[in-house]
Amino acid sequence: MLQQRIFWHDTVSMPSDKDLTPLPDRVAVAVIGSGFTGLAAARALAQNGSSVAILEAETIGWGASSRNGGMALTGLKLPMQTVLKRYGREQARRLFQCSLDSVNTVEQIVREENIDCGFARTGHLLAANKPKHFDALKDEVEFMAREFDHNVHLVPPSDLQSEIGSRIYHGALVDEASAGLNPAQFVAGLAQAAENAGASLHARARVTRLERRGTRFVVETGRGKLEAESVFVATAGYTGSATKSLQKKVIPIGSFIIATEQLPDELARELSPKNRMIFDYKHYLNYFRLWDNRMIFGGRAAFFPENENTIARSAEILRREMISVYPQLRDVKVEYVWGGTLDFAFDMMTHVGEEHGVFYSLGYAGHGVAMGAYLGQTVAEAMLKGNIREHPFAQFNFPGAPLGLYDGRPWFLPVAGMWHKILDWVE
Ligand SMILES: Cc1cc2nc3c(=O)[nH]c(=O)nc-3n(C[C@H](O)[C@H](O)[C@H](O)COP(=O)(O)OP(=O)(O)OC[C@H]3O[C@@H](n4cnc5c(N)ncnc54)[C@H](O)[C@@H]3O)c2cc1C
Repeated sequence: MLQQRIFWHDTVSMPSDKDLTPLPDRVAVAVIGSGFTGLAAARALAQNGSSVAILEAETIGWGASSRNGGMALTGLKLPMQTVLKRYGREQARRLFQCSLDSVNTVEQIVREENIDCGFARTGHLLAANKPKHFDALKDEVEFMAREFDHNVHLVPPSDLQSEIGSRIYHGALVDEASAGLNPAQFVAGLAQAAENAGASLHARARVTRLERRGTRFVVETGRGKLEAESVFVATAGYTGSATKSLQKKVIPIGSFIIATEQLPDELARELSPKNRMIFDYKHYLNYFRLWDNRMIFGGRAAFFPENENTIARSAEILRREMISVYPQLRDVKVEYVWGGTLDFAFDMMTHVGEEHGVFYSLGYAGHGVAMGAYLGQTVAEAMLKGNIREHPFAQFNFPGAPLGLYDGRPWFLPVAGMWHKILDWVE
């Protein structure tokens, strides 16, 4: 039976809110948000001897970090060709290196903390929806080798069956450096690691107000106040009015996933013989992978963030999309559907920095599995060293909406959604 429920949550015991730890009076750092970013930051800060409280509005790991596709990918949301044009060769190289380091960071944390989350370097497969996409992928292979000394390889249409049991694509590109994991198991393990390092975790402690008093902050939450020397905002697509100036720079966009029943071994092997993290070339893209012989199939089925209606509609849309890729799944049961919220900046880049003592790492644009952990950790390190301005992701302006036409409520999403569909159609 189809249930509106996050499949990953049935694979691990997520931290609960049964025993709410009382808030401390004072800490060195208050981290707002308990996903990959906040938890990796808290772990790094606590390991360095700082007192840290993680304040989470819902339950620990509740946000996108326990709902995503579990694809720890190289690269950024923007194609590296665009990044190079926009920021120049040297900066693009630093940013791309960060993306490689991000997957390594996840691997290292998993190893050091012994987190059982199925981390595996199975690589990603970018599938061409049209012949001209495959031409672009040919350029990409050459470009990545020349500019970034990074080897990715092409899969011509005639070899596609060795990579994917679908006949709708026109070739693909493989990057072996990407990895897959179970995101809920990873975020639950990261929470345990942050706690073991000495951070205190506080569920149901929504931050409602931040007030600067001299060199300290008074942080008001739904469960009382605390004082902090610094604050780290790690609230991604759920960024709210307590940090209004950041909320105005982050567009929350829904993304949705279905999970099928368990498939026979032979069928699972046929669909994805190498267990790749797969996504296509469209603006309105689909992403999918196997986990435990279930097909986990996601996409931007509705642009608005998750609610009962957008999730129900997404189940239908995603099932149709999945069958168009894999007609062999026509009679397979879809058992789970769920949604989560992504955080996009207006320039589609991830941004880290500091505004009046408030540090942030935001704008992952659907690329935060590896980047969240990496930027959480490296921004924490920069906070300790006092050199956040030198961070590669702090080298460009974090823009607000053109003409300031945005107050945190994304009125333009239906238009943007339609625009992406039109682009796919025109192209
Ligand atoms: C359906 C889906 C699929 C995705 N697939 C992938 C993928 O395969 N690969 C990939 O790289 N990325 C993917 N992403 C993106 C990735 O999940 C996110 O970029 C990443 O999890 C962001 O982590 P985070 O810690 O910054 O934020 P989150 O995990 O979203 O955590 C933010 C937390 O902040 C809390 N919060 C908000 N406001 C407050 C407040 N005022 N007080 C206290 N707490 C607050 C929220 O409750 C939330 O728990 C996907 C996202 C979704 C939704």
